[in-house]
Amino acid sequence: MKIAAHTLGCKLNYAETSDLLRRLGEEGNTIVEWGNVADIYIINTCTVTAVAEKKCRNAIRQAHRQNPDAQIVVMGCFAQVAAEEIKKMPGVTQVLGNESKRLLSYSGEDRTRTFFKIQDGCDYFCTYCAIPYARGRSRSATIEETLCAAHRIADNGAKEVILTGVNTGTFGQHQDESFLDLLKELDQIKGILRYRISSIEPNLLTDDIIDFVAHSRAFLPHFHIPLQAGSDHVLQLMHRRYDTALYASKLQKIKTVMPDACIAADVMAGFNGETEEEFQKVLTFIDSLPISYLHVFTYSDRPGTAALKLGEKIPIPVRHKHTARLLELSEKKHREFTASQLDKARPVLWEATEHGDAMFGWTDNYIRVARPYDSSLVNTIETITLTPDNIVNET
Ligand code: SF4
Repeated sequence: MKIAAHTLGCKLNYAETSDLLRRLGEEGNTIVEWGNVADIYIINTCTVTAVAEKKCRNAIRQAHRQNPDAQIVVMGCFAQVAAEEIKKMPGVTQVLGNESKRLLSYSGEDRTRTFFKIQDGCDYFCTYCAIPYARGRSRSATIEETLCAAHRIADNGAKEVILTGVNTGTFGQHQDESFLDLLKELDQIKGILRYRISSIEPNLLTDDIIDFVAHSRAFLPHFHIPLQAGSDHVLQLMHRRYDTALYASKLQKIKTVMPDACIAADVMAGFNGETEEEFQKVLTFIDSLPISYLHVFTYSDRPGTAALKLGEKIPIPVRHKHTARLLELSEKKHREFTASQLDKARPVLWEATEHGDAMFGWTDNYIRVARPYDSSLVNTIETITLTPDNIVNET
């Protein structure tokens, strides 16, 4: 069978699709690029925003146009929350919820960087978020099982592993194991030269984890810590489990022990209660923090979430205005961060991709760099001095 797959949404979905395609390939199927004629189309969907759902519907229609006789299998978060709607779409033969996904999975097409799913689901029920409904409660394999999969990744030759999950820091909480204990064990796998933690909630990022990363063999000085709102009033409306003071204290701790660390933050624009006055607080708060760049999302109502019943709705044009302002701030923060790293020596893992006569890689603290292509450097680590000429402005 010829199989094509399309993935929407988060790195978790990418890891799961890649893992599934690898297994289908091992069973003798031919994997073809999305956009080609196939016998089976697999679409791994996302429900994080209304725009993400629209893209899922479009992908289903595109697959059906490409080959009206093909089987179309729709899986993932949108499939979980809108199964009845999706089943009625022309060409859809199967709708699979998230329970059919494996607990541990990893991407495999790129040997330089591998996304490794170590945790799924979430118990937090932030008021804007449909993910706990789509992916279910927090769960993870044991440390022992996770280490077995990590050894397989190391055997495949991956040098950098990005630990992903829905709420990664809750790893092990239902079996009396901890995320920190997992990190300590993973650090012992010598074949893996680098680890990044894809995202961790600020209330779960303990000082012990920060200190461990600072002194570990392979965990990199790169954090992704969702902020979502920069005012305590809006954080409370969101039911987030921290306030601005806690968030700021975590960043201060990181910068004390890892002064060159890259810190990314998710921020949501236009959530209920984000009046102009509150939004100014967000801008001032973010500007005051050692954040390196932002992932900006525009709030949209998600069916079934508690936010639907909250007052203080923000008009959609204002949400977009706030989004644009945050993106500008993100660019400014990123320029400041990269400028702070000029003339510093940082290790880079070079990738196989070749553009013109250049090759690319990420520094340990997540600055994109380029150099003239040299095939002998692919998948190796080289320490370079950062200059305006080798930095590529990308996050
Ligand atoms: S922590 Fe909040 S935003 Fe993140 S997945 Fe859980 S409910 Fe959603």
